[in-house]
Order: sequence, then C-alpha cells, then structure tokens
Amino acid sequence: MRGTVLYGPGDIRFEDREDPKIVEPSDAVIRMAATCVCGSDLWPYRGLQPINGPTPMGHEYCGFVEEVGSAVKSVKPGQFVVGSFATSDNVCPHCLHGYQSSCVQREFVSRAQAPFLRVPLADGTLVPTPEGPSSDLLPSLLTTSDVLGTGWFAGDAANVKPGATVVVVGDGAVGLLGVLSARQMGAERIIAMSRHESRQKLAREFGATDVVTERGDEGVARIKELTQGIGADSVLECVGTRESMQQAIQATRPGGFVSYVGVPHGVELDGQALFFSHVHLHGGPAPVRRYLPHLIDLVLNEKINPGKVFDLTLPIDQVAEGYRAMDERRAIKTLLQP
Ligand SMILES: [Zn+2]
Ligand SMILES: [Zn+2]
Repeated sequence: MRGTVLYGPGDIRFEDREDPKIVEPSDAVIRMAATCVCGSDLWPYRGLQPINGPTPMGHEYCGFVEEVGSAVKSVKPGQFVVGSFATSDNVCPHCLHGYQSSCVQREFVSRAQAPFLRVPLADGTLVPTPEGPSSDLLPSLLTTSDVLGTGWFAGDAANVKPGATVVVVGDGAVGLLGVLSARQMGAERIIAMSRHESRQKLAREFGATDVVTERGDEGVARIKELTQGIGADSVLECVGTRESMQQAIQATRPGGFVSYVGVPHGVELDGQALFFSHVHLHGGPAPVRRYLPHLIDLVLNEKINPGKVFDLTLPIDQVAEGYRAMDERRAIKTLLQP
C-alpha cells in the first residue's frame, strides 16, 4: 500500500510502505473508511517539532476490521470501528479511572493517513458500531476518534455545567468542537475567541452565543467586560501556546476551571500569577476512549453534526495539499478518502 510520510518541514509524501499486518495476538488491522489531518500534525510539518528522519503520519481513523489477532475478542472482521489516537487496554488502573490516554500499555497511533492501519490492543482501543454506518455519517464518526473527543474532554475537564459561562480559546477544529461540547453539556453562554469569519460562523452554528476577536490582554479585558468583571466559570484552552494559556487563566473567575488540550509548545506558567488566580487546571492528551461510546451514539442518533469541521475533502493521494491548505488556514480540517 501507499501511506503518508513526513520527510521534513513542508515535505509530505504519499509513498510505498509495507502493508500493516498482525504482529501481536491483541492487534487488529483495519481498512480505513476515512482519515484526516490534525492540527497537531502541523507542528512537525512546520518544523516546530523535530522529527527523527522520515515519519509516518496520521492518528485519527475509522473503518472496517480486516483481520484480528488470535487474542482479540470484542471486535471481528467486517465490523465498523472507531478508535482513539492513543491505544489502551481499558483494564489497567489508569484506564479504569477513565484516563485511557495514560494507559500503562499506551501507544500513540501514527500511521493512520493510509488505506490500512494496524491497531494494537484492539479489544481496549476499538469501539464497534451496531452496523456499518451510512456514508454521510462518516465525517462525524471520524471526529470522535480525536478532535471531538478532545473538544469533549476540554469541556469535561473545565467542569462545564448547565447554566455555565464558558470561554473557548482557539478556533481550530478542537476549539470549535469544544463549543459544540459545551453546548451539549448545557452551558448557557459560550464565548468563542476567533478572528476568522468562517470559523466564527461555524462556532455560532455549534452554539457560541458571543464571539471575541481580540487576543491577549485585550481579549481578557473583553471577556471581563462580557462577564460583569467576574470572568468565566470554565475556559477551554485549545491552542497550546504561552499566550493562549495565559489568556485562558486570566479569563477565568476565581474558583473557575481551565482545561488545556492542545499539545503545549513553549508554555511556561508564572507561579505567582497562578497562585493568585485561584483557578483549577486540568488537561492533557484527551482520554478519548472514555467518551467514544457516548459520542458515537450522539452521532448515530444525529443529535450532533461535528463532521462540519471538515471543510476540505481530498483523495488520500493528495494528502500534501491537505496539509498545505490547513497550514495556510485555507481549510479548518482536511478529510482524506482512501
Ligand atoms: Zn489529532
Ligand atoms: Zn490501561
């Protein structure tokens, strides 16, 4: 088969690779129905995160089970499955506490932008749907694999409750789905921080009640203004830069919650500022596996349409253009069809 490999900054190739096969008895191999490019793929693509030589890419996936190892019990060939970007056994203490992305056996998936994928720990990682879904639901099902699961964790970790005032920092796909998640969790007011018109529009569609275009100190001042000087109950930090994190902490009311789900790059916190802010901090790589059954359900019952974040769909052999479009912010998120 051919698969996606990053060679260096801006250099994405779709080239011959070995077909994935069962290596461990707990593995499955799936035939991809849809995969995509993630905002986090852009860090190494932009040369802001070093790579050690040619690196296979992709960690968001859904598709049909092609083959399973001898120890796999919960999924079988022919079933449609979604899995998290982090594999998990779903039985260790961390998994049982709901932190499958810190599973003691965790591996990060990194070869999903390809027609076939080997998934380790298939029983604990993959969630099957009751039947093969119709093709119009594929984009939304694909989002549950990471970007929606991560947006949902952002809401959950920021303790979004019915009636809450929520701020979402970041208008990438995760931020937009953080808005959708906060809406589902019953937030009354959702303030999206975004400077891009098409993203503001989607944020409003997903449930944002206000949009703030200012950033940094001005952005914080605007949030304070909109909340009678109090700050927000819950702030979802969906970027991962020092500026976005500071903005998130400062926009939160004393006693409020900040979640952070974007892989941090250059984030440093000032101890004094943190001490006097009186906020709860909780984040990390989203334990998507915890939420998968519920999110798949919401999609199959057409309660939500998170697949709208895909505003570009390409055949997978044009994956390089998919990266370029996201890098240049011409696209929010690129879906790749095998
Ligand atoms: Zn991702
Ligand atoms: Zn585990």
